[in-house]
Amino acid sequence: MRHIYIFLISLLFIFCLYKQSGGTMEKINLMKSLEDNETDITDSITSYDQDGRKSIIELYKVQLELKNKYGWEMEEIFTEEILLENKQVLLLSANCLKTLSKGPALWVISGIHGEEPAGPNAITENIEIFAKLDKKGIPVVLLPLCNPLGYYKNWRYPNTPEYSETIPGHSVGDSEHLLPDKSEQARSKVPSSTESDAFTKKVLELSNEYPPVIVLDFHEDNLLEKGYIYSQGPLGIEDPAATKIVDLFLENNFPIHLSGKTRFNEDIKGGIISGVQDGSIDELLSAKKIILNGTLIEGPSAKSVIVIETSSMNTVLSERIKVHSKIMSIIEDLWDLYR
Ligand SMILES: [Zn+2]
Repeated sequence: MRHIYIFLISLLFIFCLYKQSGGTMEKINLMKSLEDNETDITDSITSYDQDGRKSIIELYKVQLELKNKYGWEMEEIFTEEILLENKQVLLLSANCLKTLSKGPALWVISGIHGEEPAGPNAITENIEIFAKLDKKGIPVVLLPLCNPLGYYKNWRYPNTPEYSETIPGHSVGDSEHLLPDKSEQARSKVPSSTESDAFTKKVLELSNEYPPVIVLDFHEDNLLEKGYIYSQGPLGIEDPAATKIVDLFLENNFPIHLSGKTRFNEDIKGGIISGVQDGSIDELLSAKKIILNGTLIEGPSAKSVIVIETSSMNTVLSERIKVHSKIMSIIEDLWDLYR
């Protein structure tokens, strides 16, 4: 009998602890607070801004503009948590935005790596370009800030709080668990993180209603003196969308490596690298075959998948945003190559 009393008292104690922690750990979803105009909360949020990047609030407001002013659909893919000094937990959502018109689509991805702000900032500055594509009836999937916590604190990966010598970093877009190896088995048994699990699931779900035709994934690299372009689609270095982007770099005197090797020892030909199997979301979007639940099935098979890598080593953010914005300004021409 005594044991039962001790057991019940222990249960009560655990319950009280649980209630107490729940009381102090209020969770605030930033996007929802913005939607509800809760300015007392949103005004107190400060994200990393030492490189002059826009605040995460400004980025979210423009996502909301696409939804509320231009009628795009917005869905939350996953949320990442950050504990604020006042003990509140802030939830930062990675969202997808899509046009109401469905069908073979143009996809734009940015902010996979948190320390690469040029793409997310350029999208925020050029929202009218995307609204115009929609007005012309072009189906678009926009994944504008794929690692919001990374952007908030200027760190690359979601699985490590900061740089780590011992823990390998995993990207939001890691897709090895869906990509086949030579023996047609998934390269990894499980997703690299809960974020990459949710993200790749959403990408495959979207691929059904908005089959990717051309994908632009905006990245940067702070260990590069000059940029280059990855072409992950079937045309590789012959992809006209990739060559158009290289031409744009050259015309505008944006630094680009036209030949030699990348820092991963890949060959650069005319500013373009192809044939790379890096297990990324880009490889997934171009994959003809993928592994889902142990079965080999048709993949998204995009015709053109371009990964833009601008150099952030010696170039200030405002200049890098210009490069990304220039590419966005020819986005309809790129789409026309494949429509
Ligand atoms: Zn990157």
